Amino acid sequence: MTSELKVEKKVSALNDELAAKTSELLNKQQIYSINIMGAPGSGKTTLIEGLAKHLGAEALAVIQGDLESDIDTRRLEAIGIHTYQINTHSGCHLNAKLVHEALTQLNFSRKKFLLIENVGNLVCPAGKKIGQDLNMLVSSTTEGSDKPKKYPIIFHESQVVVISKSDLAEAVGFDRQAYLKDLKGINNQLMIYEVSSKSPSSFAAVAELMTKLRDGHHWS
Ligand code: MG
Ligand code: ZN
Repeated sequence: MTSELKVEKKVSALNDELAAKTSELLNKQQIYSINIMGAPGSGKTTLIEGLAKHLGAEALAVIQGDLESDIDTRRLEAIGIHTYQINTHSGCHLNAKLVHEALTQLNFSRKKFLLIENVGNLVCPAGKKIGQDLNMLVSSTTEGSDKPKKYPIIFHESQVVVISKSDLAEAVGFDRQAYLKDLKGINNQLMIYEVSSKSPSSFAAVAELMTKLRDGHHWS
């Protein structure tokens, strides 16, 4: 093994150790944690806004990951969601250390879910342990129906795909049939939902799934 590879392995082991600690802390408080991934502008923050209408803002705590700014944090705080901003500056994904440190900044009393909005990126958040119970990928129709073919790993590592901007599908020529076929080819266990900010009720099914998963979760 090269020394470079050894260092990489050590970093990854340390990361996973911290992620396990985060899980333990959240489990103790019966907080179900979801890593929300997706490209910049795919609708991750909009998804959280939509979910809050069904789950109640008071049930959610959010960690916002962005290179710079607190734009999304202000958006969520404005509708009463307790949110903590992480600015990664040059970092292209959240790691377990950043998330673990953020936990001390959040008040989990009466919370049911921790939503971790990862940095907008379809590449490196895939497969990283940050203390999540579930990986949810937001994939918008406007990004194009070729995304599963081009970025298969992140689709493979997710349990839930939320197709967003559903109302724009026709206008941008989103080939739903090809997209769904590619998804099945990558991961036939995926749970797939479609949402649109134009239809607040479209978020209800995702909220229901979250409640079901939390209710059925084994708190270790
Ligand atoms: Mg956002
Ligand atoms: Zn990265």
